[in-house]
Amino acid sequence: MVDLHIHTTRSDGQYTPAEVAALAHRAGIEIMAITDHDSVAGVAEGRSAAEALGIGFVSGIEISVRGNRELHILGYRIDERDAALESMCIEFARLRGVRQQRIIDYLATHGVIISPAQVRALAGDAAVGRPHFARAMTELGYVSSPREAFDKYLGTPEFDAVERPKPTPQHGIDVIRRAGGIAVLAHPKLLKLDDTALDSLVKTLVSSGLGGIECYYGTHSEYETARYLTLAEKYGLLVTGGSDFHGEAVKPDVALGAGCGSLNIKPSDIAAALSRFGVAFT
Ligand code: AMP
Ligand code: ZN
Ligand code: FE
Ligand code: FE
Repeated sequence: MVDLHIHTTRSDGQYTPAEVAALAHRAGIEIMAITDHDSVAGVAEGRSAAEALGIGFVSGIEISVRGNRELHILGYRIDERDAALESMCIEFARLRGVRQQRIIDYLATHGVIISPAQVRALAGDAAVGRPHFARAMTELGYVSSPREAFDKYLGTPEFDAVERPKPTPQHGIDVIRRAGGIAVLAHPKLLKLDDTALDSLVKTLVSSGLGGIECYYGTHSEYETARYLTLAEKYGLLVTGGSDFHGEAVKPDVALGAGCGSLNIKPSDIAAALSRFGVAFT
């Protein structure tokens, strides 16, 4: 089983990179990637823990970019020590710091009182993400689940006014490629585009240097997966897949490797991508 989309405590996940590797081993995962939001801080730890357990490892990142709309671009096989990538991540963390106070003020206008210390305690060394706020709000009893926090406050149109600036898709893809990586469009389903609109977006991204598309994902139906595989074929894109695991406290319904139940990606499903990412498999 393969899982190329995993978050750790280095962004908004619940478990450290080493803990994730141990859980992956227990779940029967043979090849994994760590893809934290806007950060490569967990890659080195993840690699040594995974390799010690005999798990094939791919370095990764997930960058939020914005053109007409927000997209997530995964970067695989990046050199996590690349200087331009590192400075971009430092800038992302700074912008998240600015947004953190804006979110605190925004929530306060809705009667939800959260202190900087409360979210910092959940984020630890990582830059603060919306899921840390969702957890804090759940723990303090303002909502009954992280999902409700997104539905009511963090994922609403009104929240857009609080958002941080994001790089363009072209910029995100360039930084990934200059760090030796391959840029992959994450979870196309979440874009909620019809066939024509998705085709035209993918076409534009391909001209910007996109190299792959995440066809296998926890919430993709068989029909949707087939639709994305056709698109990959049409544009010569690598096919990847993963669960987007964050840990039960963050995304209760998403399990490592299995996603929402039956993901179970086999190495042969994404063989071309694995060989481009430099992972050996049988
Ligand atoms: P951030 O990068 O801090 O803005 O947070 C983005 C992350 O929040 C996503 O990658 C998801 O993990 C999570 N997220 C976004 N929207 C939702 C939602 N509607 N429900 C639950 N989690 C969400
Ligand atoms: Zn996340
Ligand atoms: Fe994402
Ligand atoms: Fe993700």
